[in-house]
Amino acid sequence: MTYSLRVRAVSRQAAIALLLLAGAVAYTLASPRFRPAPVVDLGLWFEPVTFESNRLGTPLTSGEIATIESVARQELRDAFKGLPVTISDRRDARYTLRVAQEVLDLRFRRAVGVAGQSRGIAGFGGSGSVSFDFLANGAMAWAPEGASRGELVAAIGRGIGRTAVHEFTHQILPTAPIHDSRDEESYEFASAARRAQYVGAMRWDLAWPLLARQLGSSMLSAQEPGGLP
Ligand SMILES: [Zn+2]
Repeated sequence: MTYSLRVRAVSRQAAIALLLLAGAVAYTLASPRFRPAPVVDLGLWFEPVTFESNRLGTPLTSGEIATIESVARQELRDAFKGLPVTISDRRDARYTLRVAQEVLDLRFRRAVGVAGQSRGIAGFGGSGSVSFDFLANGAMAWAPEGASRGELVAAIGRGIGRTAVHEFTHQILPTAPIHDSRDEESYEFASAARRAQYVGAMRWDLAWPLLARQLGSSMLSAQEPGGLP
């Protein structure tokens, strides 16, 4: 039975009351107080990868690669905490990154590996990739002497997660000069060839207020640049 048939079946007063009620519900839904804040989805996923190095001795196990992924996702959540974003593995997200075995710099004819690369259109979306090889090798080079296998695995996860933060920032702010940062412990810093990419804490420098403005967050005053752990 359709809605209109059902309305005809009840008395006129009841029909008017129903219409008034429907109007009130529509009004309530349309009032700004009940409008949910727009949330932007950041989709990150891992392609099948492998890695071995002298420092590890034996290749990474599938369990260790799963640990690396969870460490990387935690880095993303920590970095973007306070902004209206969700972190998923959706390939149809507005901004996407795939973690691939290797990422080559398309600006060169010869094969030059890079930590990551992205393209984005302001306000619309972006996509890019992050290199497992580059960051796993970086973790082997920069992790402290005597680091356990577990610490090396965590260092790879941080390296990938922090590169993903940097690349998503490029996608969301495609024209912002984030490489201007001189803070070697910031997400924005231009190079992944540094200890802080893998070990210790990382913080925001100049991009935080720009991200907050671009994403329409009301949290701007809650977290000033550099205020993250
Ligand atoms: Zn960059």
